[in-house]
Amino acid sequence: MNVLVLNCGSSSLKFQIIQTDLEMIEKDADKQLAKGIIERIGSQALVSFQAAGKSAVKHVTPLRDHKAALDHIVKWIISADALIPGIQSLADIHAVGHRVVHGAELFTKSIIIDNAVIRGIEDCIDLAPLHNPANLKGINASRELLGTGVPAVAVFDTSFHSTMPESSFLYAIPYQLYRRHKIRRYGFHGTSHRYVAFRYRQLTGKTREETNIITVHLGNGCSACAIKNGASFDTSMGLSPLEGFVMGTRSGDIDPAVLEFLSHKEGMSMSEIDTLLNKQSGLLGISGLTNDMRDLLDEAKDHQDRRATLAINIFAQRAKKYLGSYLAELNGADAIIFTGGIGENSAVIRQRICSNLEWLGIEIDEQLNVEKVGGKEGEINSKKSRVKVFVIPTNEELLIARDTVRCVLDVPRKI
Ligand code: ADP
Repeated sequence: MNVLVLNCGSSSLKFQIIQTDLEMIEKDADKQLAKGIIERIGSQALVSFQAAGKSAVKHVTPLRDHKAALDHIVKWIISADALIPGIQSLADIHAVGHRVVHGAELFTKSIIIDNAVIRGIEDCIDLAPLHNPANLKGINASRELLGTGVPAVAVFDTSFHSTMPESSFLYAIPYQLYRRHKIRRYGFHGTSHRYVAFRYRQLTGKTREETNIITVHLGNGCSACAIKNGASFDTSMGLSPLEGFVMGTRSGDIDPAVLEFLSHKEGMSMSEIDTLLNKQSGLLGISGLTNDMRDLLDEAKDHQDRRATLAINIFAQRAKKYLGSYLAELNGADAIIFTGGIGENSAVIRQRICSNLEWLGIEIDEQLNVEKVGGKEGEINSKKSRVKVFVIPTNEELLIARDTVRCVLDVPRKI
């Protein structure tokens, strides 16, 4: 089955075509046939397409909306330029898998999209005003361009965390607010946490019930998940992706009193404060330079920039604090998994987060740590370390494609 995986942001659209079926899933033999990204939808869009085994083709073209962007992708997919093996016409796209950010309490697993599901995703817009409308644009565009006869599946960032107990997901505010408005912690990055937990089981031969680990996703957005008996027990993001770690441009945890104080002192509206905390804070806010960890590490090393160093220190300290709290919540863990752009590539940050934790049974092997960059997978703990530490590159698109196959064929998922 050729699955088109779509991940729509407010002005971007990422896609992959993945060939997979139940037998290929079993053998880990799924094939990525093509991938691409369109950014700056709404103006002169930046387009990058790449068929497997070929180099990326890039160009700039005006694309007014997500439908125009998807139309552009679809035309390329079936064009002679792309020459994607096994894809001659649109009939060779057998299903579409959509990343959807917020499924609230409505969607606890991936699901075939029909009109009722679309209404449900619309009902979650209140909780994810930035993300769900973009996801819906992608869903509607693909229904229009490919037709409703091609099955489409929604895979939610929140659904892996639907196993969290009330003690993890409730905020300590009047309970009726949860009842009335469903104000609670939902968590995000669920597809990534679920994927690396699955790979951990593959690598170690553990069963789902034996999976007691902490997964740490460090990308532009950052979150950790405490996984108990294979299920999400706690996670650092909350009602929205703003809670938790210091991120590229998000503040993470902050005293809510800061909001009132800011509005008073700076005369800011709630929506301005929201933008400040989501888009101008985190690594960018502290350093005043960039939200990009790689650039910050270079600045700190090459120019001893004080605020770049401070941003890195605060980032690592907050991550370490979460690691400690999840180790306590789980009564210890068998493994810590690093993933995401920073988690997969920065030996320095991994070392900083795990530093001086030998007393807890966590010890990194320096050599193994520096070797595991650029998409390499494996253990980075020393032989003495009681807790294993892994780097596992995430692959949310693969999980979306696999969930799509399982939903279309109506077979239960194993993770
Ligand atoms: P997103 O969350 O948007 O998917 P990624 O998972 O790709 O983002 O992570 C992006 C982050 O990863 C950026 O801060 C980038 O600087 C960082 N990163 C990528 N490679 C490295 C590296 N070699 N060293 C440190 N940070 C890196």
